Amino acid sequence: MKEENLNSPLSVFKRVGPTIVKRFRKLGVKTIKDLLFYYPFRYDDFSKIVPISQLKAGETATIKGQIILIANRRSPVKKMIITEAIVSDQSGSIKVVWFNQPFLTKILKPGMKVYLAGQADYYLGTFQLTNPSYEKFKPKTLHTARLVPVYPSTENLTQKQIRWLIKLALPFVRKIEEWLPKEIIKNFNLLPLKQSILQIHFPKNKKILQKAIERLKFDELFLLQLKNHYLKKKLKSQRAPAIKFKEKETKDFVESLNFKLTNAQRKTAWEIIKDLEKNHPMNRLLEGDVGSGKTIVAAIAILNILLNNYQAIVMTPTEILAEQHFKTFTKLFKNFPFKIALLTRTKKTTNFKKKIKKQELLKKISSGEVNLILGTHTLIQEKVEFKNPALVIVDEQHRFGVEQRAKLIKKIKEKPKGNYSPHFLSMTATPIPRSLALTLYGDLDLSIIDEMPPGRKEIITKIVAPHQRKDIYEFIKKEIKNGRQAFVVCPLIDPSDKLGVKAATTEYEKLSKEVFPDIPLGILHGKLKPEEKEKTMREFLEKKIKILVSTSVIEVGIDIPNASIMMIEGAERFGLAQLYQLRGRVGRSPHQAYCFIFIERESEKTRKRLEALIKAKNGFELAEKDLEIRGPGEIYGLKQSGFLNELKIARLTDFNLIKKAKEAVKYIFSQDNELNSFPLIQEKIKEISENIHLE
Ligand code: ADP
Ligand code: MG
Repeated sequence: MKEENLNSPLSVFKRVGPTIVKRFRKLGVKTIKDLLFYYPFRYDDFSKIVPISQLKAGETATIKGQIILIANRRSPVKKMIITEAIVSDQSGSIKVVWFNQPFLTKILKPGMKVYLAGQADYYLGTFQLTNPSYEKFKPKTLHTARLVPVYPSTENLTQKQIRWLIKLALPFVRKIEEWLPKEIIKNFNLLPLKQSILQIHFPKNKKILQKAIERLKFDELFLLQLKNHYLKKKLKSQRAPAIKFKEKETKDFVESLNFKLTNAQRKTAWEIIKDLEKNHPMNRLLEGDVGSGKTIVAAIAILNILLNNYQAIVMTPTEILAEQHFKTFTKLFKNFPFKIALLTRTKKTTNFKKKIKKQELLKKISSGEVNLILGTHTLIQEKVEFKNPALVIVDEQHRFGVEQRAKLIKKIKEKPKGNYSPHFLSMTATPIPRSLALTLYGDLDLSIIDEMPPGRKEIITKIVAPHQRKDIYEFIKKEIKNGRQAFVVCPLIDPSDKLGVKAATTEYEKLSKEVFPDIPLGILHGKLKPEEKEKTMREFLEKKIKILVSTSVIEVGIDIPNASIMMIEGAERFGLAQLYQLRGRVGRSPHQAYCFIFIERESEKTRKRLEALIKAKNGFELAEKDLEIRGPGEIYGLKQSGFLNELKIARLTDFNLIKKAKEAVKYIFSQDNELNSFPLIQEKIKEISENIHLE
């Protein structure tokens, strides 16, 4: 195995066959390097070796003893094979029991010396060890008598197999290159990389494990911030069209609206206008609750772009949303001579007087005759060429992969005419707390709309007790009779082993058949094809479907003002921010809206959280709370965004390490602004920047 290196596939290990390779592939592990960087998610502390006589009930420990006897028997009660053994050491002996592992009698024989690790306890009056991990005597154990790593796994891959394979890969650790400069390691008191990888898998003790975890977290947080800093710097060096602020036209436009802008809208629009005036690209994230009025802020930016004779592009994650925007912008700009076009996979529409063919439309887009182009990712895929887009807006940006946004920008830049980068505005309803956003989106500037337009009716929110379920169903029937529509949101798609958790598919069946047999229902979840989702959403929008049963992936950003009821099942399984977002789907019309919350598993904590929801006035507050309680992954939409993929082990709540990493970034750039004297760091940045926006 001499020529093998970190990039060799797992199959180079003699005893690793195709089946195992396939199973590891499922975990995203293909190479030796992948394996070494596949971290445990927790550890069983079996490090304490205890004489049998001193085992305490409920305590986790390892015993070191000899098998006196071992045998299988069939349990009379359940159809189960029970393996029973007596194990003793000098201090005493104990009964050991395993369930449904009959093969054990082939592996463990009387007389054999073994380590057994687990929890001893009383069972029907007998003190025994149940389902312990086992391992034969040897000086260096993997599964017992130590801190034992537990890995995220998949079907048919046991912890023992994973540990065994990682053990095989450990010699390759010496080929891992230390990429952090010496002075960083020293100044920030970090464990060297090689040692950290060794220790994260098979730690000597808790203290060094802590150091290993810290080092590996640091790497991720350092890299994330380094990348952001680097991208930001790079943007500053790029050119973009400087957009003149058309003050009079903008004022007239704002005055022509049938409402007054909120202060937050004014402020954010101003921040954007100021950015557009500069001759390097804006890269800004506009955050605001569902319904906070981001569209009009975008419209103000677009107006200025078009009046400067440049094109603007708006990309949305769904066709329905694109169509909705098309209608909105056509209406907003009706007093201007702008040509507006909508391009999605199945539709093309324009605001021109005459109908035109698709080919002709594409020509008018590339000639610059069309000023504003709206669409889905079709804008990336199809042969659409733009003339001089100066602003790209991505709505509900967290729904797009990072790559999709990058592709759009790249496409614009590749054109011979486009020897510049466009200004870039992302919009999202995900309320990401500022502290978090600064780490996560450090390359973006942030504008926050933290205020709702006045006059929104309060949504009547109720936690419903199980015995009142019938009343709620009756109420829904009544509302539907009055012309309204309802959402029913469940925590899961399919029924799973997590008993008792409502799944959308089964709930849909039950509601259609038993509860609302005369009402048309629809179902929506993440496993459906995009076309199927669009179709269902459209039918809901057109009121053909009256009740929409779904998981939390209800299409974002869509206005269904006629829906007045949001019913949430298993609410304890959703994050606060997520619940808030779900509730925000209703209450967008003069009709009184309701949010009915059902809890499957009561707890004090759940109560408190739901009370916070009922009281909450804005999504940011709740997101902060969510961050405290559940961690950043749970903030709605953040997981799908792909941004967290870079963080395998670090958490955005590792505030101390984030701070340290930030100092380190500052130090690096203070040493060499171009990073030329840090080739290994340069390489790392390149590695990740390849699939990063705005490159
Ligand atoms: P979102 O931020 O979710 O994209 P929208 O831009 O779709 O929100 O706005 C939601 C609704 O609120 C729209 O019907 C819009 O016309 C309306 N709206 C926006 N700003 C205001 C305002 N300042 N006053 C009253 N209504 C407003
Ligand atoms: Mg919107």
